[in-house]
Amino acid sequence: MQKNDVVMVAIEDIGVNGEGIGKVDGYTLFIKDAVIGDVVEAKVTKAKKNYGYARLMNIHTKSGFRTEPRCDVARQCGGCQIQAMSYERQLAYKNEKVRNNLIRIGDVPEELLQEVMEPICGMEEPFHYRNKAQFPVGMDREGNIITGFYAGRTHQIIPHMDCAIGRGENKDILEIILTFMKEYQIPPYDETSHRGLVRHILIRSGHRTNEIMVCLVINGTEVPHSHILTERLAAIPGMKSITYSVNREKTNVIMGRETGLLWGQEYITDFIGDIRYHISPLSFYQVNPVQTEQLYGTVLEYAGLSGNETVWDLYCGIGTISLFLARKAKQVYGVEIVPQAIEDAKQNAQINGIKNAQFYVGKAEEVLPERYERDGIHGDIIVVDPPRKGCEESVLETMVKMRPEKIVYVSCDSATLARDVKYLRERGYEVGKVKAVDMFPHSVHVESIVLLSHNSPDSVINVKVEFGKGEGNVVGCNIRAGKEISDKTESYI
Ligand code: SAH
Repeated sequence: MQKNDVVMVAIEDIGVNGEGIGKVDGYTLFIKDAVIGDVVEAKVTKAKKNYGYARLMNIHTKSGFRTEPRCDVARQCGGCQIQAMSYERQLAYKNEKVRNNLIRIGDVPEELLQEVMEPICGMEEPFHYRNKAQFPVGMDREGNIITGFYAGRTHQIIPHMDCAIGRGENKDILEIILTFMKEYQIPPYDETSHRGLVRHILIRSGHRTNEIMVCLVINGTEVPHSHILTERLAAIPGMKSITYSVNREKTNVIMGRETGLLWGQEYITDFIGDIRYHISPLSFYQVNPVQTEQLYGTVLEYAGLSGNETVWDLYCGIGTISLFLARKAKQVYGVEIVPQAIEDAKQNAQINGIKNAQFYVGKAEEVLPERYERDGIHGDIIVVDPPRKGCEESVLETMVKMRPEKIVYVSCDSATLARDVKYLRERGYEVGKVKAVDMFPHSVHVESIVLLSHNSPDSVINVKVEFGKGEGNVVGCNIRAGKEISDKTESYI
């Protein structure tokens, strides 16, 4: 195979980035935007020895899993990689991804997963779910001020204000800001020359409260004529907070460190379950509020709290999981590396009148071992929700030493999750439940939760005993080793 070859390929698999995978005479091609089940004409863009990449030119036969993307820039935009795939197929793909990683990387037996893996939790309405959007602002070749999304892997702005996964009011807000910039000749930021003022527009909304926040990220310290802009924006129903963030660095980081108020208050409020959260422009907050409730609900279910437990929530962010669990536990401790997030966590505990949650700033891999060695801390349940790279081994090592009854592992990368599950399985923990939650429909990302329980003499294990072949010969029961035998045999007889 050579560059610029045009070939006909049947797409038989889906790659980790959502691309279609097919073979031509044993040679594997990765084709972006091709959907499993398609037969496509593709042009080779890069040819390696055993595999290559190709560009989708024509769809020869449409896959039954193909659907019309709602968004007309779905192919260019770097946000949604698999909008052309039916939602059901997306869910199956994500579920398989988690399952395969647990089997291949985690060494979890397939038969065990068959039993403990629950169906993936998808969305009923997988559009307009995001409560946060960051729109880059720039200028097109004709000198028009534009905003939209970066094309995949570049900083080229695709003009688009009506994102299919963002909230409807974003468009009205962006139009007001762009019109204002034009009228008052406020220049957008230009990355190459490092000149111009407005870099990004951040919009956040409260899912339950419908409160809206707008934050202009600027390469300067003030927004000229801002009272005109705020007057116009304030007319949007739900507008609560208009701020600016100063970012004068040559950087890909969107937000600056300093924020200033232009109108209203500096935060908006939202709820997860019955817990109220203050969200400021810089705080981390899950972007899919509907699925966050499902995710945290599952964490709560897997934790199985009775009210007497001490719970650790590692990588706690602004304490969302900690506070969600605090009402059902005796004591919760949260650990997080970002000091600002811990400030938010403390404040959120306070506004909800939660007194049994305590927060520590620091790296989980330092705070946990330190507190264990020094104070001999204990935990009945440890929840971890690490970034993509997973847990440091020292965190896992301390957790194993602490011997909590349960570990609830929340993960946004099932490969590192599987790696850590393998470590914990080799040291006395077994997978009790697994569920994938689709937090990011139309992207390739998937969140997953695994419950691991300690195989101690005190833990309940389910045993099936086969006495021979034939109906009625299998007896199952829950046993608490060395202590008691429950009589739950009937379901298996
Ligand atoms: N559980 C929270 C946040 C999860 S995101 C929620 O659901 O909202 C992961 C968090 O881990 C981020 O807030 C990040 O700042 C934090 N983090 C990253 N590395 C860390 C480390 N080494 N120790 C502690 N926290 C860390």
